[in-house]
Parts: sequence; structure tokens; C-alpha cells
Amino acid sequence: MITIALSKGRIFEETLPLLAAAGIVPAEAPESTRKLIIGTNQPDVQLIIVRASDVPTYVQYGAADLGVAGKDVLLEHGGQGLYQPLDLEIAKCALMVATQNGFDYEGAVKQGARMRIATKYTEQAKEHFAAKGVHVDLIKLYGSMELAPLVGLADAIVDLVSTGGTLKANNLVAVEHIRDISSRLVVNQSSLKLKHERLQPMIDAFATTVAARLAKV
Ligand code: ATP
Ligand code: MG
Repeated sequence: MITIALSKGRIFEETLPLLAAAGIVPAEAPESTRKLIIGTNQPDVQLIIVRASDVPTYVQYGAADLGVAGKDVLLEHGGQGLYQPLDLEIAKCALMVATQNGFDYEGAVKQGARMRIATKYTEQAKEHFAAKGVHVDLIKLYGSMELAPLVGLADAIVDLVSTGGTLKANNLVAVEHIRDISSRLVVNQSSLKLKHERLQPMIDAFATTVAARLAKV
């Protein structure tokens, strides 16, 4: 059996065409079932539906052979035990620093003021501000980061931004770009050896599809 770990929402939706290119069609959509294990048209391929941030863990321990995870999630996880053969170029966004509109971020950085930063991405935030030589107190949050500057929990947030719509709706502005983010294929290292004959053609089909898309733009 080949098990593929995916998260609901944009990763699942954007992975569907890649699975189709490898001849894999899920029997159900995660939105229309409460099942966490979803069969496919291939009798030896199943999908498991997990939290986005849990995908690397399932693959690392071999509970899933393959998975799709954002670079953001992989950097927080650390990537131990994972082979990352392919950037799928899906679920694209950017990791940014954002503040309330009107907050003088550059001024605060120049003055060397100690800043409070709220984020789900503590590893990447720590690394970013350390590299800049800015002293920060990191406050770990699990969601709705945009709220933190509005109610005085933090001076700034580190969060993913795609259209900027959520920032704008909450009177926040992006003040610094940390890195571009997209989702990667992750593979359990021993699965790749033990199930090579079944996995390699799948990985190749994903790679061909991604390359064909990139050639079009
Ligand atoms: P959860 O909502 O379960 O707490 P999550 O917010 O990380 O977890 P999603 O919102 O489904 O889960 O995001 C999954 C992945 O999609 C993220 O890890 C990231 O790589 C990418 N992503 C997140 N936000 C955006 C966005 N605004 N635009 C594009 N891709 C995004
Ligand atoms: Mg989310």
C-alpha cells in the first residue's frame, strides 16, 4: 500500500491535478466526508487527511510514504527523515512581517527597540530577526495572527500573505518580505528505497506536470 498525506483545502485542491497525472483519482473529496482515510481508483494507493503542519510528521515516521507540505511547515518541522525531491509550485504565498498601518517599523529597527512579534512560525521568525540583529520577544500563536497588533499583544506579526486581503481588512501592512513559499513533495527515505518501483513513476509524473506548467508561463 502507498499512503499519501495531504491537508484539506488549497493543498488538496492543487494536488488533485498532479495525482491525476500519475493516474490517481480519490474516491471522495475530504470536504464531503468525515473519513480521514480516502481510497482512490488505484487499489494500492490511499490518501490520509491531516493538519497541514502534521504532514511532515506522518511522512517522517513512515505512516505515510508521500506527502505535500508548504515550505513554511517544512522549515518549522526541520525536515528530519524527509526526502524533498520536488517543488510542486503550488499553494504559493510569502512569509512576511506585517504591522498595523502607521507603525514605524523601520524606525523601531533602527533605534534597536525590542519588539514583540506574534507568530505561528517561531523558528523562521527567530532566524530572520537574529540575522538582522534585532532583539525580539516571540509570542507563539496558532491562528488569527492578524489580531495580535490590533489588540496590543504584539508590535508585529510574521505570517503568510498571498493577496494581502486579510492584512488590508485588518488595517495591517506588510513591511518586510522574509521568503517566498510554495509546497513540496516529501517522501519517507526508507519508503523510497523499499517501494521504489511504485513511487518513482509517481514522482516522475508529478515532476513532468510541474515542468510542463512552468514551461507555459
Ligand atoms: P490550519 O488552517 O489547519 O491551522 P494552515 O493554516 O497551515 O493550518 P492552510 O491554510 O490549509 O493550513 O495552509 C496550508 C499551506 O498552504 C500552508 O502551510 C502554506 O504553505 C500554504 N498557504 C497558507 N496560506 C496561504 C495563502 N494565503 N496563500 C497561499 N498559500 C497559503
Ligand atoms: Mg489556515
